[in-house]
Amino acid sequence: MKKYTQHQKPADGDERKLNSPVICYPNDTLKIPYWDNYQKAREELTKVDEIIIPPRDAKCFDVKAGYFFRIESTDGPQVGDLNLFNANNYKEKFYSGKTRALHGTHLSLKDQMWSSFPYMRPLATITYDSLDWYGFDKDGGSVHDVIGTRCDPYTNNLISNNQYHFCCHSNLTRALVNERNLQKEEAENLVHDVLNVFMCTGFTHDTHQYFMKASPVRPGDFLEFFAEVDLLGVLSACPGGDCSSEHSSDTAKCYPLKISVFKTTSKVLDSWTSPLVSNYDQLHGL
Ligand SMILES: [Zn+2]
Repeated sequence: MKKYTQHQKPADGDERKLNSPVICYPNDTLKIPYWDNYQKAREELTKVDEIIIPPRDAKCFDVKAGYFFRIESTDGPQVGDLNLFNANNYKEKFYSGKTRALHGTHLSLKDQMWSSFPYMRPLATITYDSLDWYGFDKDGGSVHDVIGTRCDPYTNNLISNNQYHFCCHSNLTRALVNERNLQKEEAENLVHDVLNVFMCTGFTHDTHQYFMKASPVRPGDFLEFFAEVDLLGVLSACPGGDCSSEHSSDTAKCYPLKISVFKTTSKVLDSWTSPLVSNYDQLHGL
């Protein structure tokens, strides 16, 4: 938190802090070749599946490559924690940290959810965000972050010394065990850092600590994705509800979330194919 120091500023300390920031990963070269076609395709959607995520629980859902899916607020403000996998190879899963490095702390329209090494390709592209108007607020907060991890019983136990079993980490684990027939340990190892859908977060200006505030999401709001590969999604309706006060307990008012899966009847994606995995040869200098 940089609250404590043991060293005096050196004589040239101010000067050393004058350097201008340079974007670590300029993303202008990342093109979405079919973006215009995605936008045309989403005008002709037919719903093929719908899954309701109960509060303080998670469910799995499948989306074929080339289909769209939406996460929607239905009954009240609710945050969702999303995991994504290549449905044919669970080792390829969403890489929150690299997505953050490429697209910034919070995702919206035209951002992509990247997969883990050595695959590193977009798993999904955000094609619609009814909360894109929010931008960043006066506290530096915004929605749909990739800076938090997922609420989990280990951190909760560390800080509050109690046993709580309905954090998103546990909900995601439980969904994989119950719906994908995995052993508990195997499922837990697959759970990864999430896209915090609808969650409003940032870093405080003074200590740069991770903060949350009441989500601006309202019933009818939704975030829509194009599936770049066959996807297994797992979504948890966070026990924090709108995350205005606390998570990791049964205190907050929670609501369900709705997943809808769509296929397009448009022909504009007929020549589209899934992106290839990374071209890097994996020699690592060996
Ligand atoms: Zn959570």
